[in-house]
Amino acid sequence: MSPKAGIYIHVPFCTGKCPYCNFYSVRYDRTAAERYTEAVCRNCRQIPSESEADTLYFGGGTPSLLSGEQLKAIIRCVKESCAFSEDAEITLEANPLTVTDRALSAWKEAGINRLSLGVQSFQSEVLEQLGRRHTPEQAASAVRRAYDAGFENLSVDLMIGLANQEPDCFARDLETACSLPVSHISAYLLKIEEHTPFYENPPALLGSDAQAERYLMMHDYLTDRGFLHYEISNFAKPGFRSRHNCKYWRLEPYFAFGPSAHAFHGGKRYAVPHDLYAFCGSPLQPETVTESDAGSLTERVMLGLRLSEGLCLADFPAVREQLLRAAAPLIPQFLSLCDGRLSMTPEGWLVSNSVLVRLLEQIP
Ligand code: SF4
Repeated sequence: MSPKAGIYIHVPFCTGKCPYCNFYSVRYDRTAAERYTEAVCRNCRQIPSESEADTLYFGGGTPSLLSGEQLKAIIRCVKESCAFSEDAEITLEANPLTVTDRALSAWKEAGINRLSLGVQSFQSEVLEQLGRRHTPEQAASAVRRAYDAGFENLSVDLMIGLANQEPDCFARDLETACSLPVSHISAYLLKIEEHTPFYENPPALLGSDAQAERYLMMHDYLTDRGFLHYEISNFAKPGFRSRHNCKYWRLEPYFAFGPSAHAFHGGKRYAVPHDLYAFCGSPLQPETVTESDAGSLTERVMLGLRLSEGLCLADFPAVREQLLRAAAPLIPQFLSLCDGRLSMTPEGWLVSNSVLVRLLEQIP
């Protein structure tokens, strides 16, 4: 049975720009948000009606700036356009400052059943340096309110990388996250991206040894508390993996709408330009094919090894022997081989690029 598709909606509005962020977004504007919603609905109606989908993900930007009515209209359109599973996962990325009791009940009513909160840290000095506009208390309160409103599938994003994230400081972030009713944690290394204020004026960053130490500390701390480290940057309590994001790593199809969105279906990858006004002003979103033969063997190995489940070697009969030969010297420190599956260890994830180079140079 072929896997069901995911649907990604890029919501390109923020109330300000964080200095490290290079995601496409513009300043929120009520009229633009209305035009944008109409354009998303127009595009969703183009999903081939025979498609089956079981995840919908509002990412951004700050999707929680859309009103409950706007979210509801988009979800209704998706449901009318394809066979959308009754038990679909519907995720909304939300800024803690937008989490009010009124918004939570509107999101519930619209059908959202998973929230991903952009917390980054529970330490005020880290939040200030990252240019975040919420306080640690507001972030913790957003998690509690969401849980009390019935959102059990709750994720928080944490960031690692600033020099002032001493071990104690980072341990406090992990402790706070675990003291809250959180079922999923995404933890990203701060990367200095081009075209951001941090690129011009970078903050002091942790060195690579300190980053590695925090990463392994996080692995130990969270796995001791019942989280599965199921992907290089993601931890979940049993039953709470991000079903939508797993589609990316398993090379399952997903449609995508909104400026700067990327899609993958029918073996092709598509990209929509970073241009809200072109998106709203066109009958259908302008998109280009960026890869017409996506899903190569190399890509399957690279993406599969991001997941703790790793690769089932039986799915790679043509290169199974080469993979095993290249993997042998890296086992057990960086790779693990168990029941015919090859996966990375946490130490392997830390140096995943070098491990991949060693494996892929064996593949013709
Ligand atoms: S980090 Fe989030 S809130 Fe900040 S500018 Fe980027 S998308 Fe907007």
